[in-house]
Amino acid sequence: MSYERVRKADPAVADALVAERERQNDTLAMIASENHVSEAVLQAQRSELTNKYAEGYPGARYYGGCEHADTVEQLAIDRARELWGADHVNVQPHSGTQANMAVYLSMLDPGDRILSLELEDGGHLSHGHPANFTGQTYTVEQYQVDPETGYIDYEGLRERAEAFDPDIVVSGYSAYPREVEWERIQAAADAADAYHLADIAHITGLVAAGVHSSPVGVADFVTGSTHKTIRAGRGGIIMCEESYADDIDSAVFPGAQGGPLMHNIAGKAVGFAEALEPSFETYAEQVTTNAQVLAERLQDHGFSLVSGGTDNHLVLVDLRESHPDTTGKDVETALEDVGIVLNANTVPGETRSAFNPSGIRIGTPALTTRGFDETAIREVTDLIARVVDSPEDNETTQSVGARVDELTDAFPLYT
Ligand SMILES: *Cc1c(COP(=O)(O)O)cnc(C)c1O
Repeated sequence: MSYERVRKADPAVADALVAERERQNDTLAMIASENHVSEAVLQAQRSELTNKYAEGYPGARYYGGCEHADTVEQLAIDRARELWGADHVNVQPHSGTQANMAVYLSMLDPGDRILSLELEDGGHLSHGHPANFTGQTYTVEQYQVDPETGYIDYEGLRERAEAFDPDIVVSGYSAYPREVEWERIQAAADAADAYHLADIAHITGLVAAGVHSSPVGVADFVTGSTHKTIRAGRGGIIMCEESYADDIDSAVFPGAQGGPLMHNIAGKAVGFAEALEPSFETYAEQVTTNAQVLAERLQDHGFSLVSGGTDNHLVLVDLRESHPDTTGKDVETALEDVGIVLNANTVPGETRSAFNPSGIRIGTPALTTRGFDETAIREVTDLIARVVDSPEDNETTQSVGARVDELTDAFPLYT
């Protein structure tokens, strides 16, 4: 895809777009929430559907001229239902946060109670953080991971649910390396007679491929993002039983949003079609295999991992034991300088701050999309370890940076 027309109209933006493509090509994306969509998804997302108002739903719109928008949205819905086995699907949420907002809007009144995982332990802003509308609109209590094991404290969650009497229990996380036991969370929600929202934003692709157990059919509502492991471009999605369908649909529109981003919905439709191909299962399996290799190799290098390993696409490193004087931000910065991009993250029992936490989160979805296998991931892990051990040593950072260049050339991305 060339940006020559953008360049004519707006050279400054064209420069930034070209530079961003080069940045993605020339660096290793290990941010666990990121991925690289196919050229087909990119092309669908830049279609003329960006011009179209399609408030409403397929077959029942508030505007004329929606026949092609209807085709696209219905395809996205049908494919999502097949991918996740859901009764009802809404593909219009602009983002994962918007999807969660619609669930809360449909089922809760202001002041109602949300029980969710602590942000510091791997939760998400849209699960009740004071800086988010959820924390400002609802009454929030939080459950934790067991500080010893790093696993969700399911017993503690159940006790908290019985004591707090929430209206909704939220599961699904941003920085949790282990398989979630949906039924145990459902049991806690049942004990409090509460709804259960399972937010699978990070693991949509792993769940679709059957690599992670599914909350569909267990939780009342399942929300997700479409740009993380499922690789269908930026956006959100909601799944539920037919009995909640009308409430959810009207909470998305007109409750939380106006016109849907039809060009993004086209991207979702194409990405979902790709995910229905058998090769997607192979991809998802490789994502988790690569994460396990990453985890084992990090441990070989002396790093301590929250929960001691991973079942999914990410690992969470607690630097405090192996590198007590190094913060997550130090590592994030040092690695970015050599072309490895990941993020600093809080760890359970955080003793620093959210801005300069004690951990790093590392994910394998994007590198796996580029074709990285176990051998390549092992080498990347060795590069990470070298930089974390000697961030100030120029010889190390230069040789690691040169090797990153070779690896990005060997696994080309966008042309
Ligand atoms: C990424 C994520 C979301 C979605 O966030 P948006 O940036 O709003 O798309 C929602 N919930 C969890 C748990 C996430 O990790």
